[in-house]
Amino acid sequence: MQISTSLNIFTRRPIAEAFAPATAAGFRTFDFHSCDFRSALLQQTEDEERAWAESVRSQADRFGVSLPQMHAPIYNAFAPGGDAEVLTRLSIRSMRTAAVLGVRWVVIHPGALPGSFDAAHRGDLLSRNVAFLRRLLDAGAPNGIGLAIENCTDRASSSDNPAQLVRNKGQMGAYPEELLELIDACGTPLLGVCWDTGHAQVQGLDQAASLRLLGPHLKATHIHDNDGRADQHLLPFNGRIKWPALMQALHDIDYRGPFSLEVHNAFHPLPEELKDTQLRFAHELCTYLVNRAAGVAGASG
Ligand SMILES: [Zn+2]
Repeated sequence: MQISTSLNIFTRRPIAEAFAPATAAGFRTFDFHSCDFRSALLQQTEDEERAWAESVRSQADRFGVSLPQMHAPIYNAFAPGGDAEVLTRLSIRSMRTAAVLGVRWVVIHPGALPGSFDAAHRGDLLSRNVAFLRRLLDAGAPNGIGLAIENCTDRASSSDNPAQLVRNKGQMGAYPEELLELIDACGTPLLGVCWDTGHAQVQGLDQAASLRLLGPHLKATHIHDNDGRADQHLLPFNGRIKWPALMQALHDIDYRGPFSLEVHNAFHPLPEELKDTQLRFAHELCTYLVNRAAGVAGASG
């Protein structure tokens, strides 16, 4: 596994200034969080976006770092109104930008459509998602860029009763079985899964069992913790996720992709003077977990 972090912990710094403190803390691999640049990208032509991506890539090369995964814009592709189509076009463009950045997997949320989750609603959700995902897959295929669908929550994150699984958002892909259904329906090895540990915890899933079900389809990760009541984006061990079991499952399925933190709430509230210290701690925490998965002596307990 490659120890990684989303660059979204650096939203208050220009991208070129993120690599220096992150590499000093030990990180060499990143999730490029392109949604942080969404407003600027919406104003740019595709040529301008390409030039920007080339400048990011040359900065990354200067620091000797790689960007194996990237988060596409976060939105609901099936939301009413014209904005969703604008953002889908931006997401399609990001599949081409990924090739410039050296990204292997672009992460996207499946579309959501509120409804009863009866057979007709499920069929509609599946066919609309397949059509949506194929538009992105077609844009990435010429460069071999894959699309990783992320497990999202399908219940109110403020629920007082974490055991009560109410499907109230119409979000497909909240369960591993649904992600596999989408992969089967699209029928291409360029469609994989990004496992978000925080979403799975809010959804009340057995994460080790879920990861074993996904097996070789797992291509990217969003690693963070919460108390099961809300998507809090905290460092591991600050919530209620059972990390030893989760790491054992990643080891058992021989996952070798990025182990990528998505822990902006562990950084944004901190004074600037403490962020580099927190970065070093975050890297040490990931090293502990990844070593534990690999069975390195001294990482047990
Ligand atoms: Zn995520």
